[in-house]
Order: sequence, then C-alpha cells, then structure tokens
Amino acid sequence: MSVLVYVEQVDGKFKKSVFEAVSYAKAIADNQHTNLTAISIGNVADSELKELGKYGASKILKVEAAQLKNFVNQAYASVITEAAQKEGADIVVLSNSFSGKGLAPRVAVKLKAGLVDGAVELPSSNGEFSVKKTAFSGKAFAVTTLTSANKVIALNPNAFGIKENAVDPTIETFSPEIKPTDLNTIIKEIVRATNKVSLPDAELVVSGGRGLKGPENWGMIEELADLLGAATACSKPVSDADWRPHSEHVGQTGIAISPNLYIAIGISGAIQHLAGVSSSKVIVVINKDPEAPFFKVADYGIVGDAFEVVPKIIAALKAHKG
Ligand code: FAD
Repeated sequence: MSVLVYVEQVDGKFKKSVFEAVSYAKAIADNQHTNLTAISIGNVADSELKELGKYGASKILKVEAAQLKNFVNQAYASVITEAAQKEGADIVVLSNSFSGKGLAPRVAVKLKAGLVDGAVELPSSNGEFSVKKTAFSGKAFAVTTLTSANKVIALNPNAFGIKENAVDPTIETFSPEIKPTDLNTIIKEIVRATNKVSLPDAELVVSGGRGLKGPENWGMIEELADLLGAATACSKPVSDADWRPHSEHVGQTGIAISPNLYIAIGISGAIQHLAGVSSSKVIVVINKDPEAPFFKVADYGIVGDAFEVVPKIIAALKAHKG
C-alpha cells in the first residue's frame, strides 16, 4: 500500500499546482502511514525533480521515452497505471488540471478504481474513505465515498495549498512498456498561438466582458495582463461576438479555471460565468453597477467605470515597477 502522485511538467518545469498535488498526496500518505512516490513523464532535469522532495515525495520515478515527450492522454494514463502497479500504490493523486481531467478517469478505469474528480479536501479519517468535491460546475459540493480497493483523486487547484515537508528524494528511471495502440494519436509539434501565458495554466487572469463595449477596447486589458504576467480571458457573449477568440471563453460552456487571481472587468457575474471561475483563489471585480451579481463572490470590488479604473491601475503598476 502506498500513494502515487502524477507530476505534470510544462517545458520541463513544474507549476505550483503540482507542488500542491504533492503536498496533498503527502498528507494522504501520512494519514495512511505510508510513503509517497511521484511519477514524472517527459524531459525534466534532476534538479527540478528534486524540488518535489520539498513537499514530501520520497521517491521519484522519471520516464523519458522519446514517444512520451509530448502529452498523449492514453499513453500517459497507461504509464501512470503501470507505475501504480509497480509501486503497489492503491491511491493515485493528480491535479484536476486540463490534462489531469483527461487522465484521471482513464487511470481509474485501468486500475478498476473509484474516482473523485474536483476534490477540495483530504479524505475523511472516520473509517470511511469519503472526499468532498465540487459538483454541478462548482455550484455545489458533494461528498463521495470510495469503497473500491484502488482510488484515484483529482485535486482542484488552489483547494489545499502548498505545504513544505522536506525529504531527500531518490530518483529512479522507470521504463514502462509503451503499447503501439496507446500511441494511435500523437502530438508531433506544438505551435503556440501566441507567446502569451496559456489560459488553462495561468496563475493570474485578466478577463473582460460585454461592459467593454467592443474589441477595440481590449488594448487596456492586454496591457494590464502583460504588466501582471497574466493570461487574458472573456465572457461567452464576447467570444460569441468575435471580439475575442473562443479559446479565451471561460465558464460553464468554456474553460474552467482556478487561478490565484481572477480580475473580472465589465462582467456581470452570471451563474454560467461563475461556474468556470468561482474556484479562483482571489477574485477582483470592476463593474460600474454596484448591484452586479459578481460582487457577491468578489474578494475585492471596485465600483466604477472600467475606462477610468483600469488605466489608473495600469499607471499605478507602471509607477510601482518603474
Ligand atoms: P453582460 O451581462 O451584458 O454584463 C456586462 C456588465 O458590464 C454589466 O454588469 C455592466 O454593469 C458592466 N459594465 C457596463 N459598462 C461598464 C463599464 N464602462 N465599466 C465597468 N462595468 C461596465 N457566459 C459566460 O461568460 N460563460 C459561459 O460559459 C456561459 N455559458 C452559458 C451557458 C448557457 C446554457 C447559457 C444560457 C448562458 C451561458 N452564458 C455564459 C451566458 C451568461 O448567462 C451571461 O449572459 C454572460 O456571462 C454575460 O456576459 P457579460 O457579463 O460579459 O455581459
């Protein structure tokens, strides 16, 4: 019995959500009086892998097969499954990220495991293995009890936090069997649409809605995002009207995100929009209508005209940086 955590890398680096998943998996391992092993797929330097030790991973399996350089759902799921079987891990933890959402159910099927996706708390310690999770696009919580021998948990980013628990990890090369049928779909090349921060991975997001009146007014949104190192997003009507690309549409029918900071500018806060952003750690709302529903879920609210408020924030940031 042990715990395995999948550590997703982007260009050879780990994001904060990975350290959070490791912290969470370590807490489960401690509660189960067992060890935590991490599995990394793709080319990651040992110095970066060692970082996982800070959060409690005592053993790290690294898989560097050439066919697995780029993310392939089916093959990565098989490798994680094989690692779980090799390590005798009965609990597998992943981050409920864009790729984690594809991997978790596949790994669960392969391991004949019960699955909790969107977990927000540690499993209960009252004898049952029950985990609180988000339900109905984040509008409610459910408590799921897993009765299967194997269990897969996909943790929502920003739900648990990063907790240091330093150990000196051992790094082991793992060479799993990669079946050709797992490589029916492969990614040959990744061409980024822009050099900007990608929305599903972003820690900071600046988002605009219909209150911005038209696409010609997005300059200030992009400038604010650039100054903060943030990704840009938008509400559904904005992408429907082609003011912004559909890849920026967040919400129930768009991308669900959980950044550390979400700045909503000229967005009313309709329930379908909130479904995709309400698990952001800190929400800042700028809206000229003090009754806008978004203020009910905001950590900080500015009642004012975006065309006056945003340039002032940009000027203040420039002054601060200068
Ligand atoms: P509006 O509702 O028009 O709000 C504009 C806001 O800007 C207002 O609050 C106004 O006070 C403010 N404003 C105006 N001028 C200014 C100014 N100068 N300065 C500051 N504030 C200003 N929507 C999504 O976003 N994502 C989804 O995934 C999604 N899925 C949906 C699925 C279904 C099945 C349905 C029925 C709807 C869905 N919607 C979704 C649409 C959703 O219901 C809302 O219509 C939409 O979110 C509203 O977008 P908005 O806030 O940009 O525009």
